[in-house]
Amino acid sequence: MGKIIAIANQKGGVGKTTTAVNLGAALALLGKRVLLVDMDPQGNTTSGIGVSKADVVYDVYDLLINDVPAANVVRPTNVPNLDLLPSTIQLAGAEIELVPTLSREVRLRRALEPIRSAYDFILIDCPPSLGLLTINALTAADSVLIPIQAEYYALEGLSQLLNTIRLVQKHLNGALTIEGVLLTMYDARTNLSLQVAEEVKKYFKDKVYRAIIPRNVRLSEAPSHGQAVVTYDPKSRGADLYMELAREVLGIEKAAEA
Ligand code: ADP
Ligand code: MG
Repeated sequence: MGKIIAIANQKGGVGKTTTAVNLGAALALLGKRVLLVDMDPQGNTTSGIGVSKADVVYDVYDLLINDVPAANVVRPTNVPNLDLLPSTIQLAGAEIELVPTLSREVRLRRALEPIRSAYDFILIDCPPSLGLLTINALTAADSVLIPIQAEYYALEGLSQLLNTIRLVQKHLNGALTIEGVLLTMYDARTNLSLQVAEEVKKYFKDKVYRAIIPRNVRLSEAPSHGQAVVTYDPKSRGADLYMELAREVLGIEKAAEA
């Protein structure tokens, strides 16, 4: 059964989508079967992995609202072993349309059930809000991965996120755990990055990944080529660290350290 990981933080621009695409691609390169679920109406995961929104027939909106089976929504990407449930801007309507519907919080969980066994990992890229799309992701997930940008106000709003996670644990998904906390856009030259990292480690302790994602220009360029950095520039620092993160998620220690 595929492990379902929601990548969530209601702050925008912290690296959720970059992490979904690159951790997904890295796990796929390591031989795992991976499904990316684009739960953000912006559709940056969709375009970032090379799927043109103009070619999308069914998207996550159809999955959640129109009961189109996941098998009809899923499509391959330019990375072997990596599939995608795409999103387009029509998903923006779902946040409101879901409100009066029956079992509105469990729609994604139910939709993923029939295809779950086809994957080792299902990574859900959440939108920058704590609305029903994110609630659906947290309800479907086994665990949540929280990217935190090593910048000012990094921890601001985090208590809201943790509170939402607790509410979901209490009412919708008692098995939900915190997978890990990922420091992103880290700049080793600045004291600020160092301070934020220390603060995050003080709070989340061993939940913080040893792999820390540096600020890396190749990571920001890759999406405009419709590629994950691990295929766009496998030798870059960004690719290196996302591969390391993937190994950490898989529990594989670096040989050099052993
Ligand atoms: P979110 O999904 O949380 O809104 P994104 O992953 O889209 O965040 O990242 C926001 C912006 O920062 C994007 O333009 C992305 O390309 C860029 N970015 C993300 N991570 C890095 C990084 N480690 N180094 C440089 N740029 C990054
Ligand atoms: Mg995003």
